[in-house]
Amino acid sequence: MIEVLKKLIRKSVCDSCLGRQFSQLLSGLTNRERGRALRTVAAMMFDSGTADADPSNFSGFRLRFRKPGPEKECSVCFGLFDNLEKLAEKAIKKLKGIEFDTFLVGCVPSRKLSEAEEKLWEEIGIEYCEPLKAEFNREMGKLIQKATGKTADLEKPDVVVLFDLENGDVELRVNPIYIFGYYQKLVRGIPQCRWDKYRTSVEELVGKPALKLTKGSDHRFHGMGREDVSARCLAWRPFVIEIKEPRVRKPDLAKLEGMVNRSSFVKVRGLRFCDAETVRKVKSARPDKTYRALVVLRSPVKPEDLEKLKSLVGPVRQRTPTRVLHRRSDLERERKVKSVKVRRITSRKFELIVKAEAGLYIKELVSGDDGRTSPSVSEILGVPAKCAELDVIEIDRVEL
Ligand SMILES: [Zn+2]
Repeated sequence: MIEVLKKLIRKSVCDSCLGRQFSQLLSGLTNRERGRALRTVAAMMFDSGTADADPSNFSGFRLRFRKPGPEKECSVCFGLFDNLEKLAEKAIKKLKGIEFDTFLVGCVPSRKLSEAEEKLWEEIGIEYCEPLKAEFNREMGKLIQKATGKTADLEKPDVVVLFDLENGDVELRVNPIYIFGYYQKLVRGIPQCRWDKYRTSVEELVGKPALKLTKGSDHRFHGMGREDVSARCLAWRPFVIEIKEPRVRKPDLAKLEGMVNRSSFVKVRGLRFCDAETVRKVKSARPDKTYRALVVLRSPVKPEDLEKLKSLVGPVRQRTPTRVLHRRSDLERERKVKSVKVRRITSRKFELIVKAEAGLYIKELVSGDDGRTSPSVSEILGVPAKCAELDVIEIDRVEL
């Protein structure tokens, strides 16, 4: 250690860069404090100019006449650690425009800095040192924390303050916020997610007011399953709306609910803030669903024939429906129908209430899709059947 200190003291290094090479030796000090202390010790032990390494040769009196610290620019950080406050100010100014509670500092050192550090380590070894990057992030974090009163968070920061040490630029990466809720889609003909073929969607009807309140840049919608464009969803379906780069992180959710519910197409309720983990849970949940299908037959059947439809209960084999084959691969799967109720309307028309496992295609359960789904309403009745209307009327509750 004495040898390393001797080598370092002859170079022009600032207190921070000096102290950092011994980070793992003296705890409880900042690198700058450690560096200052070591410089004092060094000045007492050996003359830092001529470096006579005899530790018994105390020359402490010289301290009074020497200014501690190098006269020239630091050969390791090139003045970076003497200019931290200036850089911090830049970041603090940028942070003023956004709402956040937690932050994280990151940096990309310039090539010049990386090379200087590597060269130094080659000379003196890396036994006790700490990387420059780590000190920068920590010390900068302290300055920002002090100025803003916000907390540093390494795990899930609201905002990442990223320093480009090549040109001194500061960039803010504002992490998304997530809002959980339940929606109903009360009309047919709009998709769940944004789709340019349609003039609106559940996503946009929720996302647009959300962007307005959060001043975010974009939204993403995560639903617990989805209904067909032509189907209504009268059940309350869980969803999460993700807002990218929000400048307001805690919008008034009651207000948002009111804004969305002005629409007659979509209603929301139970809005609350959540995290990315909830998105994962919402997307992977597979609750049972109950549907109401309006079935139209090509030719009339007797009321007692409809009784046969009870046999739909049980496993149904289903190959990927013809209507989605262009975007899904052709697979066969098995899903269970859990219960069936029939309400006759006319000899060619009835209502089918089906409870089934997630992922069962109901339109094909009715039509049979040319034998690709079996059993089906068409198959059991021996009459071609069509699903004229479809509603999701219940979604089993999932603990989130
Ligand atoms: Zn330095």
